[in-house]
Amino acid sequence: MVKTCRQCGVEFQPTPGKPGYIDECLECLTARNLPPPKPPQPLWIYDKRPRSLTDILLNVLIWLLLVIIMMYACYKSR
Ligand SMILES: [Zn+2]
Repeated sequence: MVKTCRQCGVEFQPTPGKPGYIDECLECLTARNLPPPKPPQPLWIYDKRPRSLTDILLNVLIWLLLVIIMMYACYKSR
């Protein structure tokens, strides 16, 4: 059983077991069902730019600050 696609007019063999998608060919179906391409979301803001020395220094500074805070918290809790 050959059907004509309602989108592009190409004759195609409908895939069995897919109700509701009988009047569209596979190409049109996949093209319609594909989500629009999204740019990958960066975890860090710094990953957007090429890594400069300032960014690395800033990261190191943040880590140092975190370590100092952790050490201080450990020291206080004793
Ligand atoms: Zn089509």
